[in-house]
Amino acid sequence: MTDLAYQRCIHPSCGATASLDDTSFQCAACGSLMDVAYDWDRLHPPKNLREFEAKWSRRSEPLEVSGVWRFRELFPFARDEQIMTIGEGQTLTQRSDSVAKFAGMNSGRLFLQYEGMNPSGSFKDNGMTAAFTHARMVGARRAACASTGNTSASLAIYCAATDLMRAVIFIGSGKISYGKLAQALDHGALTVQIAGDFDDALARVQQISKKLGIYLVNSVNPFRLEGQKTIMYRILEALRWEVPDWIVVPGGNLGNTSAFGKAFIELVDLGLIPHAPRLAVINAAGANTFFQLYERQGLRWNGGRLDQGRVDAYMHGMDAANARANTLASAIEINRPVNLPKALRAVDRCGGVVREVTDQEIMDAKAKVAAGGLGCEPASAASVAGAKKLRAEGVIGADERIVCILTGHQLKDPTATVAYHSADPKTFEEVLGTRGIRRANFANRAVQVPNDLDEIIKAIEVYA
Ligand SMILES: *Cc1c(COP(=O)(O)O)cnc(C)c1O
Ligand SMILES: [Zn+2]
Repeated sequence: MTDLAYQRCIHPSCGATASLDDTSFQCAACGSLMDVAYDWDRLHPPKNLREFEAKWSRRSEPLEVSGVWRFRELFPFARDEQIMTIGEGQTLTQRSDSVAKFAGMNSGRLFLQYEGMNPSGSFKDNGMTAAFTHARMVGARRAACASTGNTSASLAIYCAATDLMRAVIFIGSGKISYGKLAQALDHGALTVQIAGDFDDALARVQQISKKLGIYLVNSVNPFRLEGQKTIMYRILEALRWEVPDWIVVPGGNLGNTSAFGKAFIELVDLGLIPHAPRLAVINAAGANTFFQLYERQGLRWNGGRLDQGRVDAYMHGMDAANARANTLASAIEINRPVNLPKALRAVDRCGGVVREVTDQEIMDAKAKVAAGGLGCEPASAASVAGAKKLRAEGVIGADERIVCILTGHQLKDPTATVAYHSADPKTFEEVLGTRGIRRANFANRAVQVPNDLDEIIKAIEVYA
């Protein structure tokens, strides 16, 4: 292998490689997931992460203002002129003492990584810019994904902004939030709604992209994960290159979990950080495959020799019971996480833990995040609900430094938010009661007043 960057099977015992332009995203020898790999001995990785600070003065250049590509020396698979950026990754690492208090942490110890600031409103843009760049490198004319919403919104915006490719989007019926569907339609993506859920749509899109030769941008695509690594670089940068104690992330298809793990493994191997932070992955209780397999059944990465029989048995069990993922947090409503092996590797190398949180805990945490000044969608708040749980268990210490990833913007899913704050029991019941949510513990209800000046003034004096 003479290429500086290539693809490599994730299993050390296989280790089969493929060239950079392979778009099957599957090991030809054993069928496993692929990594993007680098010949670091012949590349020039930075000697110190502080070298990235020099780029702050070059923010007028598109590749340096991108919060993804200014770290491209840490995922050097594309030449500068091949890179497609729309200014993604200019996000915020914000200390939140009110959320810290809610989670039982000491003041100054909890940070929120707000990825809702991306062009399409979710962290997906970090990965999409990298996959889109790869699609361009291989000359793709069409790109497809199955999506619970945010991947399609992201693909649609990159296609619209660059006019290089046609976006083909597969969604399940009924389960997509309006904010996300609005984006796909408004940005002009071909939107195919199939009768079935996300897991069905994902199986179909893989079939169809193979048959028609359409470039696949789902999270089996290892190039997306390369872009998502930069979320961790930005956190380190915001913390002045100090490694936090914990990263807490919602787990759906486990792309972020995998990408974060790979980022830290590489930084440790390159000698750029002394050790990895611990990783806490938070499932919704209604879509808790990773929690079940890792915490309840003891499934481990085991140096790449994971117990596939156990995984298969679990999946077959779900089929037999006709189990469907079910959570209000639609972005993590996934029962068959495609990145499971990579996520196992990540939690293995980062001393990880996996937890599940209920929709009740998610929606209450979401209200607290918003009351603290950052709006997120339900799935994102799983990170904060999970941090609170791990703190209560004593797994996370009150004085440890933790970063919760807020994966998507508040306005992605206004239906759940409005129902949570609504005074109308019928609205509450339809949207939240059916998900097992009993009370909106932190509701901020609209105040009903007659259209009368004195009454209105009286109400304001009472409530504000
Ligand atoms: C996609 C998504 C997730 C799940 O991320 P994975 O990498 O698939 O685990 C969580 N939150 C939001 C808002 C998302 O869009
Ligand atoms: Zn292999």
